[in-house]
Amino acid sequence: MIHRFVFNPFLENTYVVNMGNGEAIVVDPGCQTRREKQELENFLRENQLNVRYCLNTHLHVDHIYGNELLKENFGALSVASIKDQIPREITERPIRRRYWPFADTEPKVDVYVNDGEQLKVGNHEILILETPGHSPGSLSFYIPALEAVFVGDLLEKSSRGTLQYIYSSAEQMEQSIKKILELPLKTAIYYGHGDFSSIKAERSDLGTD
Ligand SMILES: [Zn+2]
Repeated sequence: MIHRFVFNPFLENTYVVNMGNGEAIVVDPGCQTRREKQELENFLRENQLNVRYCLNTHLHVDHIYGNELLKENFGALSVASIKDQIPREITERPIRRRYWPFADTEPKVDVYVNDGEQLKVGNHEILILETPGHSPGSLSFYIPALEAVFVGDLLEKSSRGTLQYIYSSAEQMEQSIKKILELPLKTAIYYGHGDFSSIKAERSDLGTD
């Protein structure tokens, strides 16, 4: 079971994935207001899900508001790439406000992962794929048993992700998209924003077939 919430002014997708055996992951918890946080928490409690990990496709502020809630209330460890840590020269200058307009503190990450690593939760494996472009440490999470991949802001349905940051890279994004589109055709793709699609549909929409 994959359940989507749409949270915060950026209309960010937060996914709860039931991995079986009473265990779950949350991908990109973007719940910001007290009400949104309550909504996520109620859902997890009603479904009696033990949240093992909070998987961050990247550390942009609209994707991480709920990290601490999941840690405090469920003991979930935050997972991200070390390549998404913002360099000190940026965080210490006023420019920080542009990148972290709403965050008081930087997100805390418990587990750093690399390309090709796997996490086992419940009955299923999660394969970590490094898919930089939108940000240097952007990750995708592929769950073969559920035929699902979570790509964050690498892509949106039928279009490439945005490249508006100084550290975004169009070249890396093309490589990353290629890597994702090599997954089995019936794999569902879940984006950071907007509706889901499939590898098959995305290949024809992006004209890469
Ligand atoms: Zn982003």
